[in-house]
Amino acid sequence: MVTLAELAEPNHTVTWCPGCGDFGILVALKQALAKASVEPHQTVVCSGVGCGSKLPHFIKTYGYEGLHGRSLPPASAIKMANHALTVVAVGGDGDGMGIGMGHFVHTCRRNIDFTYILQDNQIYGLTTGQTSPTSEKGYKSKSTPDGVIEVPVNPIATAIVSGATFVARGFSGNLPHLSDLIYQGIQHKGFAFIDVMQPCVTWNKLNTYDYFNKKAYVLKPEDHDVSDKHAALKLADEWATRIPIGVFYKTERLTYGDETPQLKNGPLVKQPIKRELGALLAEFE
Ligand code: SF4
Repeated sequence: MVTLAELAEPNHTVTWCPGCGDFGILVALKQALAKASVEPHQTVVCSGVGCGSKLPHFIKTYGYEGLHGRSLPPASAIKMANHALTVVAVGGDGDGMGIGMGHFVHTCRRNIDFTYILQDNQIYGLTTGQTSPTSEKGYKSKSTPDGVIEVPVNPIATAIVSGATFVARGFSGNLPHLSDLIYQGIQHKGFAFIDVMQPCVTWNKLNTYDYFNKKAYVLKPEDHDVSDKHAALKLADEWATRIPIGVFYKTERLTYGDETPQLKNGPLVKQPIKRELGALLAEFE
């Protein structure tokens, strides 16, 4: 049994702006880990660079804050080195859908068994509010004063067509629902992607709590078959007057680890090193 108190990090002050949607994600992640009874010392949270990427500092698990757009490579490597660990990657839309987009597509198709939470505030928050890959067409910011020309990246559709086996969207203003989605993602065997609508109260004056409270609706099992990929893709396109949240798509297939022969005898970190370490290191001198 893991309690929320055990996941509280006493040595770091949370530095997000008051009201930032990242608070909801942090609490939801803690609740999900506590519900899953994953011990803090058996959990690793990886991130890239950005406001949301500070999250590993604010939770008492192992953590890795990497380079911009690079939360997924270390998360993949950690899971492959020790697949007994629970691994969660977090990062913003600029981090993951911009510079990290290549990693995202390839992690989806590899189906490595960890959970990726996209803190999607539809702008670059840390660098003071520039347009990001998920900003809505026409969005005006200091980097696009006349409105962004491109259409936004669709993270849900990209994850589905790239091979992710659990694809969901949450809203940081709906904590019980988001916590349950993250719990489902952690329980899922394979790559679980959760796009979280995360209002940036300081810079994004369009995609606010009020905006999402008016538009978000919860997908119900009786209205959507999560195994239907085409239906999921159709739903992924819905973003005008109503925005669905919940599980869009879920399927089962072998993970990358399942198909890696070297992992059949247990986590790599538990296996004996068969070569003399000095000779191995000498090859890299
Ligand atoms: Fe959150 Fe925006 Fe403040 Fe960053 S700038 S901490 S995303 S409210």
